Amino acid sequence: METLKSTTLVNLMDKIIDHSIEVIDLTQVLNEDTPIISLPDPFVDTNGFEMDQISKYDNNGLFFYWNNISMGEHCGTHFDAPVHWVSGKNHQHVDEIPVKKLIGEACVIDIKEKCEKDPDYCLTITDIEVFEEKHGEISRHSWVLIYTGWAEYNDDHKKFFNVGEDGQPHTPGITVEATKFLANKNILGVGVETVGTDAGIAATFETPFPCHHFMHGANKYGLASLTNLDKLPPKGSILIANPLKIEKGSGSPVRVVALVEK
Ligand code: MN
Repeated sequence: METLKSTTLVNLMDKIIDHSIEVIDLTQVLNEDTPIISLPDPFVDTNGFEMDQISKYDNNGLFFYWNNISMGEHCGTHFDAPVHWVSGKNHQHVDEIPVKKLIGEACVIDIKEKCEKDPDYCLTITDIEVFEEKHGEISRHSWVLIYTGWAEYNDDHKKFFNVGEDGQPHTPGITVEATKFLANKNILGVGVETVGTDAGIAATFETPFPCHHFMHGANKYGLASLTNLDKLPPKGSILIANPLKIEKGSGSPVRVVALVEK
């Protein structure tokens, strides 16, 4: 049998072991405090995360510790499959997504400063064009990650949801035009740090929830409640997002990691 020592994959593994490639966790911890989306009336919200202990080396199981867990598909750091939205209803359920499409380069567009000034700020086509001028075109088969700095509020629900006096959440998102622009590109989907891929006030946009509408309509995916995006370069890292294979699922909690070469 031929030696594998010189193959790309073995070299990759060597680099992961010696830390010249770092593996970054882009996932929020799942617990009963994990923030979940809160929709305006008359929409019904998802369940949050719950855990019930079955046994912990006790009379219910002397040798083992395990729990039952329950949550909505869209709880914590999670994956939106195209069928999640009515515009994508003829596309894939979460279990049908080709696994190759769970891995892609990450293109990280930084709009943090703009979101600090205006929590309702939405990514524009100009922001994407400025990114492309600086870093080259958005790569094919890539995840477009929108870095807003919102993950800094993961432990502070008040700031994370930022509900104003008008009763609406004020969190960043993507404009209708920029979503259409991205939906036409050869990308896997869009990832964000907020609780959903659309802005807090996106129910009021001319096309409500445009990121969901246009991305899922174009058979593309969403990632929400990401963290550690500040640890990624603008381009060149590899993102791996593995949702559960829930039959006919609309999405799934997901563990997202990125490979970053130092
Ligand atoms: Mn979702």
